[in-house]
Amino acid sequence: MQIDEAVLKGVVADVLRKLQEQASGSPVADSKKEDCGCSCDGACSRGELGVFQNATDAAAAAKEAQKKLRKLGIEGRDKVVKIVKATCAEKAVEWGELEFAETKIGRLEHKIAKLQGIPNLPGVEWLAPRGMSGDHGITMEENTPFGVIGAITPVTHSIPTLSCNIVSMVAAGNTVVFNAHPGGAKCAVAAVREYNKRFKAELGIENIATIIEKPSLDSFNELCATPDVNLLCVTGGPGVVNAAMKSGKRAICAGPGNPPVVVDDSADLDKAAGDIIMGAAFDNNLLCIGEKQIFVVDKVYDQFIAALKKAGAFQLNAAQLDRLTKVAFTFKGDGGGCSHPVVNRDLVGADATKLAEIAGTSAPADTQMLFAETDEGHLFVIEEQMMPMVPVIRARDIDHAIEMAVKSEHGYKHSGMIHTLNVVNMGKMARALDTTLFVKNGACVAGLGMGGEGYSSFSIATTTGEGITTPDTFTRRRRCVLVDNLQMY
Ligand code: NAD
Repeated sequence: MQIDEAVLKGVVADVLRKLQEQASGSPVADSKKEDCGCSCDGACSRGELGVFQNATDAAAAAKEAQKKLRKLGIEGRDKVVKIVKATCAEKAVEWGELEFAETKIGRLEHKIAKLQGIPNLPGVEWLAPRGMSGDHGITMEENTPFGVIGAITPVTHSIPTLSCNIVSMVAAGNTVVFNAHPGGAKCAVAAVREYNKRFKAELGIENIATIIEKPSLDSFNELCATPDVNLLCVTGGPGVVNAAMKSGKRAICAGPGNPPVVVDDSADLDKAAGDIIMGAAFDNNLLCIGEKQIFVVDKVYDQFIAALKKAGAFQLNAAQLDRLTKVAFTFKGDGGGCSHPVVNRDLVGADATKLAEIAGTSAPADTQMLFAETDEGHLFVIEEQMMPMVPVIRARDIDHAIEMAVKSEHGYKHSGMIHTLNVVNMGKMARALDTTLFVKNGACVAGLGMGGEGYSSFSIATTTGEGITTPDTFTRRRRCVLVDNLQMY
């Protein structure tokens, strides 16, 4: 028989408390009722305002909430969407600061900007039914909810992913349980409390979004196992994507990327340099869509390096890059005699000036991005570094540039960019790279509506192919058929 560690701890704590009470003759405070800072007097362990101690309870509560939400129809879902959007707009600065203080990665102004972008997400209007009419009657296909969704969120955008997921999932009629990254869980919990307070006040329903207060691999496994969760949505790196795919539940996976950018000899080099710095330096390159390596054709290579410097990027020389690389990556054995590189988490989302210091130099205080000339096999090219040090690689010509870009993307099918005025080269790279997002002549963020047309999302389902997630992504398509009647002709 397996004994659950948490249960065992609880039993021991109860026994000790009772012994203390017997000895002192007065009641002793229950240590399970921790001060969670929400004036609930320990009620959080019962799930006050959506915050739960385990996945099973969180999912059961979300299931109850989904039944109630269903009764409120599309109008009720729309209210939830509007509350989330309005709260993000109102609390962008407060929540941006909260997330920045907890995760200590990225840049505050961009954490705020991400939350300010939530109101642009599509809502209930996105759910278009499809109708058919013919000699055999009428048929309607509708996008209906799955029920309860288990969502895993990354440390790189904790509250933005959570908020974005609530909008898309609840617009589709679902409720959701979050297992946040432990490094960004406190701010996620604060957001869930605030949302539930507002949901309760306006709709009379709590637990439309629930969260596990102290997430862990165990709580993730419990979330995958509970029958109350009908679908998983994972936003994260390869580890969690693999774990979710093996769980036996259907999983929509917004997995890792390593987006390349190609610059050819027809490009506006100054604009390309500015766009690349903007995209790669956004939140210190924490974005999964962010430019991670640059391939430049030989003909304009030197001019492009000059354009990067002119636009404010700071160049590391070979020795400096070497010093930084030794700190930025470590090698982990896999027990089989091989080892593989692992990005040093302490440098993920670090400021460019800090990276320059580690490299043994000093960059001006306003530097947003570092770059260095490397070959295509360099660790900064191969690995998803998530820091504002972007390698630049010389390509013989456009075909060579695209070939190296494809290799560096590892078939993640995530994102890629090209700067060119040559439509043939645009098409060539689009087809070869086969990514979910492909931006031409803009920063990566243009692919999510910041400077380009379209809506945004913080969960881009690259691995499983649903693409940029919208309310539609979280629906089951169901068909309703009436035979030989109700057609109007
Ligand atoms: P991460 O993989 O370390 O963590 C993501 C989530 O998975 C966290 O909640 C974490 O606690 C959990 N987790 C990690 N390993 C797990 C395992 N083996 N089993 C169960 N749960 C596990 O990623 P991160 O550092 O938080 O985020 C960065 C990664 O996420 C990058 O690879 C980035 O490209 C990717 N990402 C993708 C998208 C997208 O839309 N495709 C969006 C944001 C981030």
